[in-house]
Amino acid sequence: MKYIDEFRKKGPAKGILKKIHEISTRPVNIMEICGTHTHTISRYGIRYALPETVRLISGPGCPVCVTSAGDINRIIEFSKSEKDVIIATFGDMMTVPGTDSSFQEEKARGGDIRVVYSPLNALGMASENPGKEVVLVAVGFETTAPTVAATIVKAEEEGLENFSVLALHKLTPPAMRALMDSGEIEVNGFICPGHVTTIIGAGSYSFLAEEYNSPAVVAGFEPFDALHGIYMLVKQLEEGKSDIEIQYKRVVTWEGNRLAQRIMGEVFEECATSWRGIGEIPMSGLRIKKDFARFDAEERFEFKEGLDREPEGCACGSVLKGLIKPDECSLFADPCTPESPVGPCMVSNEGTCAAYYKYGRLHTI
Ligand code: SF4
Repeated sequence: MKYIDEFRKKGPAKGILKKIHEISTRPVNIMEICGTHTHTISRYGIRYALPETVRLISGPGCPVCVTSAGDINRIIEFSKSEKDVIIATFGDMMTVPGTDSSFQEEKARGGDIRVVYSPLNALGMASENPGKEVVLVAVGFETTAPTVAATIVKAEEEGLENFSVLALHKLTPPAMRALMDSGEIEVNGFICPGHVTTIIGAGSYSFLAEEYNSPAVVAGFEPFDALHGIYMLVKQLEEGKSDIEIQYKRVVTWEGNRLAQRIMGEVFEECATSWRGIGEIPMSGLRIKKDFARFDAEERFEFKEGLDREPEGCACGSVLKGLIKPDECSLFADPCTPESPVGPCMVSNEGTCAAYYKYGRLHTI
């Protein structure tokens, strides 16, 4: 398949890997922020094929994993107390553990919690159930937020009275800034997410170069893309540079998608929000603007504060901050597995623990 096969071929991937080995002379820590990159890196054994000098660290780039236990808990409590409400959410969210339960467990106990495949499905659900309130639990990074914003605009155009959104979106650059400011981990360069950057544009990472002297490369998701991105970063670091570069030029631009940015700006405004295991990060979330308050579930209903405590023994917070590798968690593989996840990082396909569990120490490059 054109545009995919050429980035999966072993020959070019091996060629770029050889170049990384040739140019790398000193230890560097590179963080891949996006869960899809973590998946590619794990699936193709890239982590173990790199020279010892290049250490890859997985960051907080799985949208499901970073949804706080407090948010899951308060939604569960809300669904128990409001009998005429349908909670609509994406499939991955169903098994994400709160402190003592998950949406799936609550659904099995009779809670009206339904899976939607797109925000527009939730709109259809509201039209079909005029006697019920439909609350869409909207998670995701800058890739998902424009679609949710467009859905809210459509709900207004249609005059829907029984549809609202609980906006739990997260923004990527503020999380990167928080990691750099924390001083808990040394990151020398970032592999930035391709999909998110399609929306926000590579220029959004300029602060990394200007304020932290850190280079960043926006890379695609095929094995050659990831390796090429790592090569570009290692080359910059070896040459003492800190530029923001785009490897994924077939999709990503410096400015991003202006239309998507406009609709996000029309409906949402930035706010502080809580990230799982990390805590509150200023300006890293999106709340619905006053003009659309009638579609804001936080305005329409009362959500009691949820207990923000991780499941016993779960080290997802440290995994999401890149402080430990998944197999350093005492619950990894026993009892925590994708079939029986204890923490969110084992739930989603994009979760770091799930990627480590699934692919182990594969060497396929
Ligand atoms: S192995 Fe399971 S319990 Fe441990 S950090 Fe990962 S998801 Fe959390």
